[in-house]
Amino acid sequence: MTAPHAFWLAGREATGEDTFDVTNSWDGRLVGTVSVPTEEQVEEAVAAAHAVRDEFAATPAHVRAAALDHVSKRLTERTEEIAQLISAENGKPIKWARGEVGRAVSVFRFAAEEARRYNAGDAQRLDTDAGGVGRLALTRRVPRGTVLGIAPFNFPLNLSAHKVAPAIAVGAPIILKPAPATPISSLILGELLAETDLPAGSWSVLPVPNDRMPALVKDERLPVISFTGSGPVGWSILDSVPRKHVTLELGGNGAAVVLADWSSEADLDWAAQRIATFSNYQGGQSCISVQRVIADASLYERLLPKVVAAVEAQVTGDPSDPATEVGPLVSEDAAKRVESWVDEAVAAGAKLLAGGKREGATYAPTVLADVPADVTIACEEVFGPVLTITKADDEAAAFAAVNDSPYGLQAGVFTHDLKTAFRAHRALEVGGVVVGDVPSYRADQMPYGGAKQSGVGREGVRYAMDDYTYERVLVMTGL
Ligand code: NAD
Repeated sequence: MTAPHAFWLAGREATGEDTFDVTNSWDGRLVGTVSVPTEEQVEEAVAAAHAVRDEFAATPAHVRAAALDHVSKRLTERTEEIAQLISAENGKPIKWARGEVGRAVSVFRFAAEEARRYNAGDAQRLDTDAGGVGRLALTRRVPRGTVLGIAPFNFPLNLSAHKVAPAIAVGAPIILKPAPATPISSLILGELLAETDLPAGSWSVLPVPNDRMPALVKDERLPVISFTGSGPVGWSILDSVPRKHVTLELGGNGAAVVLADWSSEADLDWAAQRIATFSNYQGGQSCISVQRVIADASLYERLLPKVVAAVEAQVTGDPSDPATEVGPLVSEDAAKRVESWVDEAVAAGAKLLAGGKREGATYAPTVLADVPADVTIACEEVFGPVLTITKADDEAAAFAAVNDSPYGLQAGVFTHDLKTAFRAHRALEVGGVVVGDVPSYRADQMPYGGAKQSGVGREGVRYAMDDYTYERVLVMTGL
C-alpha cells in the first residue's frame, strides 16, 4: 500500500490520523489516499496564518510576484503529469484536463503581473472645499486578512488557483480547502508553493471533512471566504457569517440564444457544434455549460437536427483516451440524479431527441425538446450532459426566456448585429454575455461571477484581488 498524500499545514507537509480514498469514477480504481488534518492541526494552520498576516502583507511585491511566476513555470513543466492526475481523480477527459492546467498556468502568470502593478495607489485633492485646503488624500488597498478558499470538484486545479494566486498577489494568507472528490491536484499545487520563498504560515492546503467546515467558516480569524460550489452550501455559508466578506461563485443553467440573423447554413453549423460541445464537455459539469438553447422560431426547425446530430457525434468514453470529449460524471450517484431528472421530464411530456441512457457513472449526451416549464430540469442546474431546446418568437421573447431563471451566470447570444449585442448586454440578467458563441467561454483575467442565485462577488485575478482587499485612505494635513 502506498503512503497517503500528506496535506500542507502552514507551508510544510503533515499527516493526520484519518485518511480517505479518492477513486476514479470511470473504472472505480483507487487514485490515491489522502490524509485528513486533525482539529488541532487545522487550528495550528489558522493560528499561523493569523500570526503572519502583517508580515505577509508587507512582503515586497517582487517576492510575491516571483513566487507566482515560479508556480506558473512549474505547472507548465509538470502539465502532463498533473493533467493525468486531474483526469484520474475527476473523470475529466484528458484533453480538457490539459486545458485546465494551461489555464492555471495563466492564472498564476496573471497574478504575478498584477502583483507587480497593483496598489500603486491613488491621490485625491481635497482643497475643492475650504476645509480641505492644505490636505491631500492617498489611498492604498490593504488585505482584509486570511482568506478561506473553498473549491469545487469540477475544475479542481484551476478553481483552486483562482483562490490561491490572487491571495498571494495581495499578500493575504490563504487556507485552501479542496473538494473531497478531487483533493490531490490541490495537494500538488502545494508542492509547487512549497518550492517558493513565501513566509511559512502564509498558505495551507487542508482537506477538511465537510462536517467540520461550519466551525472553520465561523472562525473570526478568517474574515474572507471565497467559495465556489453549489448554491445550497454557498448560501448557507453566507447566512452563517453575514458580517464576513463572502464571495460565492455558484451554479447556473446557461442559455445559448440563436437569433434570427444567425441563419446561414454555416452559422447554424457553427452554433450547433459549439452548443453540442459545451453542453457536454466534461459531462456537462461546468457552471457555464449550455443547458438551455433558445432558438428563434424562424430557424428552429433547421437548427434542431443539426444540434441533435452534433450531440450524437460527441465521443463518449474512457477519459484517458485523447479522443474522448465526454467522460463519466464525478460519481454514479451524480449520473443517477441526472437520469432521474430526464426521466421526470420525459414522463411529463418532454421529447427525448438524443441520449437519455446511463451506464455506470456515464450519462449519454442528451437533447430534450418541448420540456414542461415546471419539471426539475427546466428550473434547476442539471450539471450533466443534457440540453433543452425551445423556440422564441423574437428577440424580446428570447431575452425574456433567458431571464426566466433563478440563475444568472453567463449567456451566449448568436447574432451578427452590433445593436442586438448591446441590447443583449443591457437586457440579460447575468454576470457575462458572450456574443457569437456559447455562454461557456471564460478567460481567467475577465471579471467572472453571477447575478441572482448564481452568486455574489467576482473572480478573475484582479477582481478577486479587489475582493480580498479594502481601500484605506491616508489624509495628509498641513501641506
Ligand atoms: P459543493 O457545494 O458540493 O462543494 C463545494 C465545496 O464546498 C467542496 O469543497 C465541499 O467540500 C465544500 N463544502 C461542503 N459542505 C460545506 C459546508 N457546510 N461548509 C463549507 N464548505 C462545504 O459543490 P461541488 O459539487 O463541488 O461543485 C459543483 C457546483 O459548483 C455546481 O453547482 C457548479 O455550478 C458550481 N460551480 C460554480 C462555479 C462558478 O464559478 N460560478 C464554478 C465551478 C462550479
